[in-house]
Amino acid sequence: MIDEGRQGEALIVEGNPTGSKKLYLESYGCQMNFSDSEVVAAIMNENGYSTTRNVEEADIVLINTCSIRDNAEARVRHRLGDFKKKKAENPHLVVGILGCMAERLKKSLLEEEKLVDIVAGPDAYRDLPNLVEEVGTGQKAVNVLLSRDETYADISPVRLDQGGITAFVTIMRGCDNMCSFCVVPFTRGRERSRDPHTIVNECRDLFKKGYREVTLLGQNVDSYRWNMTSKGEIKDETQPTTNFAQLMEMVALVSPDLRVRFSTSHPKDMTDDVLEIMAKYENICEYIHLPVQSGNTEVLYRMNRGYSREWYLERIDAIKRIIPDCAISTDVISGFCGETEEEHQDTLSLMDKVKYDFAYMFKYSERPKTLAERRFKDDVPDETKGRRLTEIINKQTQHSLDSNRAQLGKIQKVLVEGPSRKSEEHFCGRNTRNSMVVFPKGDVQKGEYVLVKITDCTSATLLGEVVERCQPNF
Ligand code: SAM
Ligand code: SF4
Repeated sequence: MIDEGRQGEALIVEGNPTGSKKLYLESYGCQMNFSDSEVVAAIMNENGYSTTRNVEEADIVLINTCSIRDNAEARVRHRLGDFKKKKAENPHLVVGILGCMAERLKKSLLEEEKLVDIVAGPDAYRDLPNLVEEVGTGQKAVNVLLSRDETYADISPVRLDQGGITAFVTIMRGCDNMCSFCVVPFTRGRERSRDPHTIVNECRDLFKKGYREVTLLGQNVDSYRWNMTSKGEIKDETQPTTNFAQLMEMVALVSPDLRVRFSTSHPKDMTDDVLEIMAKYENICEYIHLPVQSGNTEVLYRMNRGYSREWYLERIDAIKRIIPDCAISTDVISGFCGETEEEHQDTLSLMDKVKYDFAYMFKYSERPKTLAERRFKDDVPDETKGRRLTEIINKQTQHSLDSNRAQLGKIQKVLVEGPSRKSEEHFCGRNTRNSMVVFPKGDVQKGEYVLVKITDCTSATLLGEVVERCQPNF
């Protein structure tokens, strides 16, 4: 997930946008959605729109939405109410809804509640200029068709990150996993991987523009494959094949000064060859996000996750064996259908075993059309879900604090990202383990690597002092 503080962030293009019409583009949800918004901005730019952060001067408002949990949808619906008022004041304002809510709610948003003029699903962004034109002729415009091959591979995204130091690069779209709680396979369609050469070229281009970190994005990066079927058969014998480990190596070779991260790994698919490539390259960060969801095998079975508690713990052992200092984070869901107190205790005991450095933690939220909605009862009372979530959060806060305390006194390489949120006098940046490090600015520059001695911490942040500036390797 993306930082809570950035939910609803409006995208603005740097430089000197030439378009005469103004687009206000707001994004919600996961990194993938924020990355998609950059593709949308690129398509709209090509068609004469420049972005604005001021909704008052917008000709068109686009909201890139998330359906993962009920509260994500509620937040967007509330926001749509604000835009409805703006539309009443300015009838020429066009409002469009993009992303995961588009497919799910097209009928109600367009016809019943009359909140929007355009509905475009995650595979329909190339069609946006046509949809805008259709609205110009007085019609409502919809395209929620899901594609088997759209990867937007040829579109050079307009970057959301203003400072130009870290960027998301989408390497695959959709998901074939059908975890029983999850709406993503329905809203984003079948899994497909992007041509590796377009990925490497995008990363090379980003590096030339001053970016120093890329995060390779997919719902299940371990099943990335190019020129191979899901059964491992080669599609075109005359062309090379590429798996995720090979792709990561290709990106790591762009420059030793370009850090590589990725998200998300799936425990059932994460293989040792990926871990070995991580160990081989200093610029592939020592950090893995490995969502567990539950520590109980029966619950995992009901979730259709494809692994057991034992399998998951074996994968954790493999990470610790091959990359001993690797930071590990996870996602946990509390109160999934039928979860007993004992099953919940298994999640807590698994957390004690793994000692995650960081976690995203959620109450189960039933989603329409999913396997869980059809097969199971959402029978854990909300109060119990909340209490269990609090227990999970309390445990994680302690583990995060322990993890950060273990860094005290160490000297770590940090990529300087920009001013810290809380103080003009401080910079912040991440170490290889993805922890945020805050330190006095001194005379270092954004985009530089520095060695920082860690002197203090909270459960969320490390504090330190720069002891050396690193020389570039290029
Ligand atoms: N593809 C990734 C994976 O398999 O871990 C993550 C996808 S999802 C965008 C991010 C997280 O949201 C999931 O790992 C899960 O913990 C949480 N999530 C998904 N559906 C949920 C639901 N119905 N209720 C609560 N949390 C949910
Ligand atoms: Fe959803 Fe599971 Fe696919 Fe992740 S792997 S997007 S949780 S179905």
